[in-house]
Amino acid sequence: MSDVDGVIEAHRDWIAHERAKQRPRLRLDPRVVSEADARRAARELVTMLVEEEAEELGVRWARIEIRDQRTRWGSCSTRGNLSFNWRLVLAPFDVLDYVVVHELCHLREPNHSRRFWKLVESRRPDWRVHRDWLHEHGPELLAFRPAA
Ligand SMILES: [Zn+2]
Repeated sequence: MSDVDGVIEAHRDWIAHERAKQRPRLRLDPRVVSEADARRAARELVTMLVEEEAEELGVRWARIEIRDQRTRWGSCSTRGNLSFNWRLVLAPFDVLDYVVVHELCHLREPNHSRRFWKLVESRRPDWRVHRDWLHEHGPELLAFRPAA
């Protein structure tokens, strides 16, 4: 082990701590976001995107629900009922768009198979960026509770 490795080894915890601090925070203010407004906006945007994208994918959907899920962003039942987390409206638009496209692709490919991801990629070639955004900021967004 060289001296440099030794130094890095000794500072590993410190480096991890500094990296974590540098991670950008969303800084959502519970005082200025109303859940009712956010839900309304989520419904409007999601409905618009579902209508557009379902046509492109040639799939039929039954219902759209906007929910207060604690651990997930969206889901899709075999009957074509789509559910989305209202907090998606607080994420960048492209992230919301990715989640909608992801769930609609499940109407053609129910599992996360290779075919499923190929389909997602054909519709949103940069889907990984949005998935990564959700990995990074998702926990903070899911923990968000408006004051009102
Ligand atoms: Zn999925």
